[in-house]
Amino acid sequence: MIIFKESEELSAFLSEKKNTGVTIGFVPTMGALHAGHFSLIDTCKQQNDMAVCSIFVNPTQFNDVKDFEKYPITLENDTQALQKIGCDILFAPSVAEIYPNGLKNLPHYKLGYLETVLEGQYRPGHYQGVCQVVHRLLKIVQPNNLYLGQKDYQQCMAIKKLIALTQLKINVTVCPTLRETNGLAMSSRNMRLNDIEKKQATKISETLVNIKKEIQAGDISQLTKKAIQYLTNQGFAVDYVAITTADTLETIVYWDGQQKIVALVAAYLNQVRLIDNKIIN
Ligand code: AMP
Repeated sequence: MIIFKESEELSAFLSEKKNTGVTIGFVPTMGALHAGHFSLIDTCKQQNDMAVCSIFVNPTQFNDVKDFEKYPITLENDTQALQKIGCDILFAPSVAEIYPNGLKNLPHYKLGYLETVLEGQYRPGHYQGVCQVVHRLLKIVQPNNLYLGQKDYQQCMAIKKLIALTQLKINVTVCPTLRETNGLAMSSRNMRLNDIEKKQATKISETLVNIKKEIQAGDISQLTKKAIQYLTNQGFAVDYVAITTADTLETIVYWDGQQKIVALVAAYLNQVRLIDNKIIN
């Protein structure tokens, strides 16, 4: 595995490869890698001549300073793990490398409703930050294929929107969420949970499974209310439990039993904010 820290060097290396017909797949991450990340890199490796993974904890996407400060950093372990699974290139830039002109006056993206619902509503500015870093990374790497996790359902939509807005010719593949055997969605933030909290956190995926089991055509508003109550009783501070259209994240009150829908949860367990989702049909 070749490790790059400088964007110009990486760009030059990759564009030379691309000129010889090599296909480049890209998996952007914030590190503290787990099996969920590795599954993306595996798919990327299968579908491309070269797999590039980036590790960069992007300061501009954290609306909560404490969350940024406490974000786990395990670069040495991550590097070893990437090497072991046969990732071709690791890009691990500094903040100055990604934002050479500083963190002020960064571009603004017209993301529309994505910034006013669910994660957009509860994390103001978050998707601007995501788009700022992903746009910069895409310009540096210029991949043919980009791999994202369904775990961050709304983020996939925001990045697809970014690619449409910027007219980049990049194919996006959304990969399934990897879970622990008890159902807990794998997440770097799980490292901040102790063993008791990790067990407690499984209530989030249980809630989604129950919604899928119980949902029937008709008025479904009671289902989300019941889920919020359940998670609150289990000790979570719930930001939202929502059942929405799968393509536009519009909250559904009456469901015709046909429309494609998704259930999404965001809740704090003590200081740790966890998200998960399940496509219902
Ligand atoms: P992060 O490092 O959390 O920014 O995640 C980097 C990429 O890995 C994003 O596209 C995430 O959606 C994806 N990802 C995170 N957790 C999982 C998971 N449990 N299963 C599959 N993909 C994941």
